[in-house]
Amino acid sequence: MLRESDRIFTNLYGTEDWRLKAAQSRGDWDKTKDLLAKGQAWITQEVMTSGLKGRGGAGFPTGKKWSFMPKGEEVTPRYLIINADESEPGTCKDRDILRYEPHKLIEGALLAGFAIGAHVGYIYIRGEFYQEAEHLEAAIAEAYKAGLLGKNAANSGWSFDLYVHRGAGAYICGEETALLESLEGRKGMPRLKPPFPAIVGLYGCPTIVNNVETLAVVPTILRRGGSWFASIGTPDNAGTKIFCLSGHVNKPCNVEEALGIPMKELIEKHGGGVRGGWDNLLAVIPGGSSVSLLPKEICETVLMDFTSLAKVKSALGTAGVIVMDKSTDVVRAIARLSKFYMHESCGQCTPCREGTGWMWRMLMRLAEGEGTSKDIDQLEEVTHQVEGHTICALGDAAAWPVQGLIRHFRPELERRLRRE
Ligand code: SF4
Repeated sequence: MLRESDRIFTNLYGTEDWRLKAAQSRGDWDKTKDLLAKGQAWITQEVMTSGLKGRGGAGFPTGKKWSFMPKGEEVTPRYLIINADESEPGTCKDRDILRYEPHKLIEGALLAGFAIGAHVGYIYIRGEFYQEAEHLEAAIAEAYKAGLLGKNAANSGWSFDLYVHRGAGAYICGEETALLESLEGRKGMPRLKPPFPAIVGLYGCPTIVNNVETLAVVPTILRRGGSWFASIGTPDNAGTKIFCLSGHVNKPCNVEEALGIPMKELIEKHGGGVRGGWDNLLAVIPGGSSVSLLPKEICETVLMDFTSLAKVKSALGTAGVIVMDKSTDVVRAIARLSKFYMHESCGQCTPCREGTGWMWRMLMRLAEGEGTSKDIDQLEEVTHQVEGHTICALGDAAAWPVQGLIRHFRPELERRLRRE
């Protein structure tokens, strides 16, 4: 369990004011100038030492990502993009950072922008986050007024401007290259990679795209040291993480915990337990809707970190923990997710455009007891035709929950075929 003294987000529940003065009294913007004075290489190295992995879902090491920026003389502008398009079902952690801890993000943006050599940052925020965008705009205005942003930001000699750009509500714009397309004024359609944004990103210039939570922890890492952050969690899974507990728990909540906390402890201690008690648990989706669900037997012992969840063929993803008790129609629940991915597919690649619809229709047939004996195998075959055959990860995200359903709940699907 996370020690109180190791907590980074001390105002996650909005119990105190989110504005600059209160944020400074909680330690934000403390000696930012001194951190910047240590240099770009030092900041990147500390973030590497910390073992911080991206908190947006993919879990790529943050310091390593920054190190991909071209070295040497700056010939074109560089950009820092903050992905605040949080749209993954079951996930609402960035929303609370934007609402109650916006200065952690803004300070993190300045430090990261400096580390990668960017003088401009854009925060791409989900259009539905109205109040959050208001807080962010107000916090940025305060930071400018206090000399923490703009020319000679925080008295460091480095210029850094930060802008908020509101999206229009498409899930796919959370994919980094679709986000860049949208920011450039086009339809949010993912780009083929390579080239990766670190080489060819916004307006064709080197660009780093980081998630809100990822950047919001950077100032504390730099103040307390990369090795402090690395000492929390389990090997290869460093630091704290905000988990979002939803579904059939007694107390749905966001909570910051150490990576590697047992799932059972997370649900019992912070979520107030499963509705009707632990034995009433059917399954848990551990990392937002894009990952495979896990049945109760696995939930008993699995740890909430990148490595442990990958071992059981699921993923930490966004750490959006969706709990389902035994009253859940699990086939319908996964069918509903399939419908979501069908709706959000941008339609560029045939396997995703067609496959997401196939998966949804087949699951609905099975849910309604109208499937045939061939349907389960055919459904699985469709998931494999989609997985790994598309431009972006939405195809995989649509396939994995269905594969998880077949892997863990095949008897339930077969029972539907017998119309029992
Ligand atoms: Fe668009 Fe789906 Fe292809 Fe991604 S996988 S580019 S969402 S069609």
